[in-house]
Amino acid sequence: MSLYRGGCSCGDLRYHISKEPIFTQACHCRLCQRQTASAFIIRTMIESSHFHVDTGELICVHGPTGSGRGQKVYRCAICKVQIFSIFNNSDVMTFLKTATFDEPEHFPPQAHIFTKSKLSWVNLDGATPRFEKYYNKEELLSKDSLARRKAIGW
Ligand SMILES: [Zn+2]
Ligand SMILES: [Zn+2]
Repeated sequence: MSLYRGGCSCGDLRYHISKEPIFTQACHCRLCQRQTASAFIIRTMIESSHFHVDTGELICVHGPTGSGRGQKVYRCAICKVQIFSIFNNSDVMTFLKTATFDEPEHFPPQAHIFTKSKLSWVNLDGATPRFEKYYNKEELLSKDSLARRKAIGW
């Protein structure tokens, strides 16, 4: 496969992934809007064993989630741009901030979630599934993606 690289805004933190992502989704919940100071966040799931930091240092900041279980947000230690999150205290799955890829166009959202709080001026295309809250992963994800999640107990 081609290697997908990314990094923070100051350039110190650089990473790559060594496998195609499992799934990419955009979240329009109010917390993600605040955490990005923008309209929505895009996250790409990858097994943590296929996420590799090449240069730089990360700091970890605890953040709230709608579920109440919280997340660990990993940021570049220098410019503090968020690079990825860990949810449910389980570090087997890495939720990369898709917009930090060098070529984020490779990973368009495969679902839009929590569209009940989507900003009214964000116009989504008609082709990508959208959900007022969350989706049923068994219905939406490919067999391969489901198998990869299951293999790491996510
Ligand atoms: Zn969200
Ligand atoms: Zn940085």
